[in-house]
Amino acid sequence: MINRRHFNKILVGSVALSFAACSSITSVSLPTDKKRVVIVGGGFGGATAAKYLKKFSPETEVILIEQNKEYYTCPFGNTVIAGLNDIEYIKHNYKTLESKYKIKVIHEKVKKVDGETNTVILENGEKIAYHRAIVSPGIDFKYEKGYVKGSEQYSPHAYKAGAQTLLLRKQLEEMKDGGTYVMVAPANPFRCPPGPYERISLVANYLKKNKPNSKIIILDQKNKFSKQGLFQEGWEKLYKDMIEWRSAEFGGEVLEVDPKNRIIKTEDEDVKADVLNYIPNQKAGKLAFDSGLTDGDWCPVNTKTFESKLIKNIHVIGDASIASKMPKSGFSANSQAKIAALQIVRLLKNKDIVNPPKLANTCYSLIAPNYGITVAAVYEAHEDGIIAVPGAGGLSPMNADESYRIQEAEYAVAWYENQMADIFS
Ligand SMILES: Cc1cc2nc3c(=O)[nH]c(=O)nc-3n(C[C@H](O)[C@H](O)[C@H](O)COP(=O)(O)OP(=O)(O)OC[C@H]3O[C@@H](n4cnc5c(N)ncnc54)[C@H](O)[C@@H]3O)c2cc1C
Repeated sequence: MINRRHFNKILVGSVALSFAACSSITSVSLPTDKKRVVIVGGGFGGATAAKYLKKFSPETEVILIEQNKEYYTCPFGNTVIAGLNDIEYIKHNYKTLESKYKIKVIHEKVKKVDGETNTVILENGEKIAYHRAIVSPGIDFKYEKGYVKGSEQYSPHAYKAGAQTLLLRKQLEEMKDGGTYVMVAPANPFRCPPGPYERISLVANYLKKNKPNSKIIILDQKNKFSKQGLFQEGWEKLYKDMIEWRSAEFGGEVLEVDPKNRIIKTEDEDVKADVLNYIPNQKAGKLAFDSGLTDGDWCPVNTKTFESKLIKNIHVIGDASIASKMPKSGFSANSQAKIAALQIVRLLKNKDIVNPPKLANTCYSLIAPNYGITVAAVYEAHEDGIIAVPGAGGLSPMNADESYRIQEAEYAVAWYENQMADIFS
């Protein structure tokens, strides 16, 4: 006789079974009745590509593989570090992509995308065949000069958002008034060229309010930086004398670092930090290397389709790809994802690709919660790479009045919320 307890057990068992059946899409063989695109990486590039593939071609089977169930954006991560927003503000998930757009989302780590067999190989050993793949794994760090794996627990980079964002915020909160916050800013090319300088601005905003006797030193691995004039104008206005920027040429170059004791050796002196925000130099995410998609540190692509120049049928978008003149930004990744999705749909239907495709980027930076600056550009992809369309875009003006800066700060928030809606809802 089946009693209630047994019945419940059977029910739970059958639910578990049917869930397993639903999620067992990891067959090597391809579907015969439709095309399948597998996307690896659910950040700005990958999640956008998944959604837009479905929008452009609902009949295509789209599988998104992302190792984490939640995605924390680096954009607006600096506001979390500086105590202006809570971490929840930058947290997103994949539920709408699954339920509304019918994208199959698998939370697993991918070991390799194998261009010889056209399969994605998961770390758990399962394999998924594809007609085309999109890879958007973001960045990894170069461990050099004493900054090794594990150093981020003492000297956070906070250049991948989430736990690192919270750690840097905690260290900032615990820093004594009169302490020194040191940032090591990376060499080109790296994720979000204005990102380190926005962070310094918002850290200064926090320190001015909470620990006004403190100071900030930037040890830069380069001699100039994005929107430099605008940042320095804002620093002078808002945080006079609190921020010292040292270019690589004049004392900024790091020779060796002791992340645990927060000491940085430069040619001139040993700099001791109370908080050391060390942002290492960067390269494409590990998956790109393991899949043979890199040449040097990054992945070369045909910028009209974002198909790898090294392996057919795999498209690389976002920070991991070489898409200069476009900067490595979330907006660039979002724009590239839409082009890759569009071209893939056309290629799978044996149609001509859109030629030349147009792309865009805008990077807002907050110097204070009510003080924004921006750079924007429109691009076209040609045979020999991506070019900025002359006269489209530009920088915020220098010496703008207060209302202009307030308005740009409002636009920055609107940009973020619109991007998140564009990608995740
Ligand atoms: C402080 C800071 C501020 C920024 N501010 C801005 C801004 O204001 N505007 C802007 O446009 N950009 C900004 N950016 C840049 C932006 O975050 C990146 O350019 C963007 O995230 C790149 O997208 P992506 O898809 O290439 O990589 P990511 O967004 O990093 O996504 C990669 C995803 O791939 C997953 N993944 C990697 N390897 C595997 C694997 N083997 N298996 C499964 N999953 C894997 C990762 O978990 C991750 O979710 C900022 C960056 C920083 C650090």
